[in-house]
Amino acid sequence: MKGLPLFPATLAGSLPKPSWLAEPEKLWAPWKLEGDQSAEGKRDAVRLVLDMQEKAGLDVVSDGEQTRRHFVNGYMEKLEGIDFANLKTVRIRNRYDANVPRVVGPVTRPKPVHSEDVKFLRSATSKKIKFTLPGPMTMVDTLYDEHYGSREKLAMAFAAILNQEARELEALGVDVVQFDEPAFNVYFDEVRDWGVAALERARQGLTCTTAVHICYGYGIEANIKWKETLGKEWRQYEETFPLLAKSSIDQVSLECANSHVPMDLMGLLAGKDVLVGCIDVASTRVEAPQDVANVIRAALRFVPKERLYPCTNCGMVPLSRDVARGKLQALGAGAALMRKEMVQGA
Ligand code: ZN
Repeated sequence: MKGLPLFPATLAGSLPKPSWLAEPEKLWAPWKLEGDQSAEGKRDAVRLVLDMQEKAGLDVVSDGEQTRRHFVNGYMEKLEGIDFANLKTVRIRNRYDANVPRVVGPVTRPKPVHSEDVKFLRSATSKKIKFTLPGPMTMVDTLYDEHYGSREKLAMAFAAILNQEARELEALGVDVVQFDEPAFNVYFDEVRDWGVAALERARQGLTCTTAVHICYGYGIEANIKWKETLGKEWRQYEETFPLLAKSSIDQVSLECANSHVPMDLMGLLAGKDVLVGCIDVASTRVEAPQDVANVIRAALRFVPKERLYPCTNCGMVPLSRDVARGKLQALGAGAALMRKEMVQGA
C-alpha cells in the first residue's frame, strides 16, 4: 500500500468495548444501551479505540468492531433469509457446539449494513482505515442451512452480498477490506474446492487493498483445547497459503507470536503482503516492544521487508481494555524499533 512507512503496524480487527457499551471481557456480550443512546455510544466507542490505536502508533486502523456484537453474526443479523429467533445447536469449526441461526430462505441484503459506520470512521481519523467483514466460508460455518442444501451454493450467495457491501465501503473511502476466514484453517478440501473461489467472488472488481485473516481463534477455552491437539508444529497454513498466493487477494493476516506455526510457511505467500501476528491474543501478558521486534526479525527471513506488516494474531475483544492498549502500544513501539534498526543497518 502506498503512503505507509516501513513495517506499517495494524491490527486483525476487534478491540474490547467500553464497559458502558457492553459487558467487558466477553464474546457476544449484549448491548447495554438502546436506540439513539446506542448509536451515540457506539460512535463514542469508535472514537476511543481510534485514539488508542493512534497513540500506539498504528498506521492502518479499524473501528475495533465497536458497532457489532460478533464478527460473523453482527453481519448476518442484518440479512434476510436467516432465522435468528429459533436457533439450532451445531458443531462449528469442527471444534465446539454453538447455538446458531438457521438459513430458511434465499439470503439477501435489504440495505447496506456498514455504510454509516464507515462514513463515521472515515470522518474520525486521518489514518488509513481497514474494515473487516466475515468471509463466506466462515459465515456458512456459523449457520444451520435448511434452504440451499450445499455449503458451496450458500457461500457463493454470501460472496455476492459481501461483494456489494465491499464495493460500497470502498467508494466511501475504505483503504483495506478484510475478510475473516478462520474456517480456512479447518476445512482444507473445501478451501481448495470452493473457499478461495468464494473469497475471490467477494473481492471481485475492488481496487482497494483486500486482505484475508486466518487464525487459530480467540483465546477462549474451546480454542485452547483444540490447539493442544494440533501437535508440535501447526502446519494448517501449508494447505491454504499456496492457493492464496495464486489468488487476487493482496494481503494475508496470520497468527504467529507464541504459536506453533513454523515461520517458514510465510515463504509460501510470495507476492503477497504478510500481516504477521506479533501479539498473542490468547494471553493477558503484555508484550514488550522487543518481543514484537523479535517476531518481525524472525519473519524477515521469509517475507521481504516492504511486504511485512506487524499485526495482532487475532481480534482482542475478549481482553480487558488495559491489556489491549498495552499490547497495541508494544506493537507500535516494536515496529518503530525495527524501522530504526533497518535504517541503522543500511
Ligand atoms: Zn482471528
